Amino acid sequence: MDERIFLASPHMSEEGYELQYVHEAFDTNWIAPLGENVNQFENELADKVGIKSAAALSSGTAAIHLALKAAGVGEGDVVFCPSLTFSASANPIIYQSATPVFIDSDEKTWNMDPEALEEAFKKYPNSKAVIVVHLYGLSADMDRIIDICNKHDVALIEDAAESLGTYYKGKQTGTFGDYGIFSFNGNKIITTSGGGMLISNNEEKIAKARFWATQARDKARHYQHSELGFNYRMSNVVAGIGRGQLKVLDGRVAKKNYIFNYYKKELENLEGIEFMPTNSFDAPNRWLSCITLNGKVRPIDIMGALEKENIESRPIWKPMHMQPFFKVYDFIGNDVAEKLFANGVCLPSDTKMTDADLERVVKIIRGLWL
Ligand SMILES: *Cc1c(COP(=O)(O)O)cnc(C)c1O
Repeated sequence: MDERIFLASPHMSEEGYELQYVHEAFDTNWIAPLGENVNQFENELADKVGIKSAAALSSGTAAIHLALKAAGVGEGDVVFCPSLTFSASANPIIYQSATPVFIDSDEKTWNMDPEALEEAFKKYPNSKAVIVVHLYGLSADMDRIIDICNKHDVALIEDAAESLGTYYKGKQTGTFGDYGIFSFNGNKIITTSGGGMLISNNEEKIAKARFWATQARDKARHYQHSELGFNYRMSNVVAGIGRGQLKVLDGRVAKKNYIFNYYKKELENLEGIEFMPTNSFDAPNRWLSCITLNGKVRPIDIMGALEKENIESRPIWKPMHMQPFFKVYDFIGNDVAEKLFANGVCLPSDTKMTDADLERVVKIIRGLWL
């Protein structure tokens, strides 16, 4: 059996940058707590994306949680969130005892539909916050979403877990909202094995998030707490991996785009295949190359044929309003997210793939049309 091809798996730099920083932490015995790698990873990432302040955390999920808390979301508050996303976008709303209301996708972006969002504000005029997601590294229609959020005076949180390296009108996604988050989970475009980052131009709020993330310890000789705390900080070893990975981010984005363009050139003429949308405002990182199928060949045919040859692929995210846990919450929109789930496939987009690997995938898929 040929070697397995993954959807997206960790890819350390050929230069060994990550280990250099990890070694520095070991050499000084400073593997924990916090330390130089954490501080520098925050600074280097903030510089790279163009934001004032960043807090390195244990996961992207923790970053969303603290963003909601910083935005003042609490018990009973309504938070709008796209239905088509990973559950980690929505779970922290429940951690805060708030209520998610799910919003349909826009066919043009696959992300939050601004018209459905407007509808949602008619039904829930007192909503407290909006979480917008840039799925698969495609940017949402930010100008319209920002306008709507400003008009209704609500906090905007950008879940950019999948879109580090994606630019909207020349500006990094995640830097438009009051808060943005990135993830460094193992399948993301760069990884620290696990971790996340909360970013904002509001330095005071980021300082507060760091305080909550280290058990909310007040300044005192003894352990003194006047607020609820969390153990959400990133370790100094993990941050070393992140510093190294940040150096190869641009290269990873270039390779992801190469993979996407390869598939597009080889597959786009097959009947019923449509590639994920590209908009003029969008410079996507192509975290995953995704297609929809509207002809005789179905997603299950492609996924089955690839799996038989030891190649990983996956359906598009199953919408939250269709999930057993989340379906009790309200949903605003039509059937766009549902159709993307029914017809979509994520093709293997691992940056370690060679041209021979890409050819292997393409040949199997083309074979289904013979
Ligand atoms: C991965 C991901 C997250 C969660 O990040 P973790 O670091 O795994 O907690 C949140 N939202 C989206 C859209 C993701 O893809």
